[in-house]
Amino acid sequence: MEPTFSFELTLNFDGGKTMVSKNLMLMGLPGAGKGTQAEKIITVFDIPHISTGDIFRAAIKNGTPMGIKAKSFIDKGELVPDEVTNGIVKERLMEPDTKDGYLLDGFPRNMIQAKALQEMGSELGKSLSAVINIHVDPDSLMERLTGRYICRNCGATYHKVFKPTKIDGTCDRCGGHEFYQREDDKPKTVKNRLDVNLKMNTPLLAFYKKLGLLHQVDGNQEINKVFSDVKEILNKL
Ligand SMILES: [Zn+2]
Repeated sequence: MEPTFSFELTLNFDGGKTMVSKNLMLMGLPGAGKGTQAEKIITVFDIPHISTGDIFRAAIKNGTPMGIKAKSFIDKGELVPDEVTNGIVKERLMEPDTKDGYLLDGFPRNMIQAKALQEMGSELGKSLSAVINIHVDPDSLMERLTGRYICRNCGATYHKVFKPTKIDGTCDRCGGHEFYQREDDKPKTVKNRLDVNLKMNTPLLAFYKKLGLLHQVDGNQEINKVFSDVKEILNKL
């Protein structure tokens, strides 16, 4: 037999079904439930969760070459440049636990980072296989994120829609009548946070759509239904 033949045989040994690594990126506006879905994805598919905050802390703590660079900017109170952030992600993707996949969360945040990720992905043989966007319309997110209020007397927290007091205007726990909202939960702050994120996400969504990597999931459903939609997409990869 010619060697080419056996080569083809090996390729088709799994019945023609090619295994694609679950190299994933998760997107979603604040309040869309990204964190909850990330937890479920890494548990079910057994891939590491690579969130920017965590890997920054780890790189700095472990004194990796990029971690040391990042620290020098942070210590000066300066923004960490994209090339350093990209370097930290690359260091993380080079670790062996990402061989069957990974879940990126919070990276990339802009087009420079997105393009760098495409490059390091193909260089490391770990290119993105899917981008999942948990989509919830901004009006619903406003409702979710601005609903929280707190009893001034005992600190019990409520939500206008999801967890209102049993008696309107009366704290269930202490009977108090005075409530307040944290600065972070006030409509103006929330609106601003959503606008910033929308502006950041829009070009990324267009970029991944063009690459055929983007999968939209309706985040305006019950948590487990959202996850079953995510699972369906990932099982087809
Ligand atoms: Zn109270």
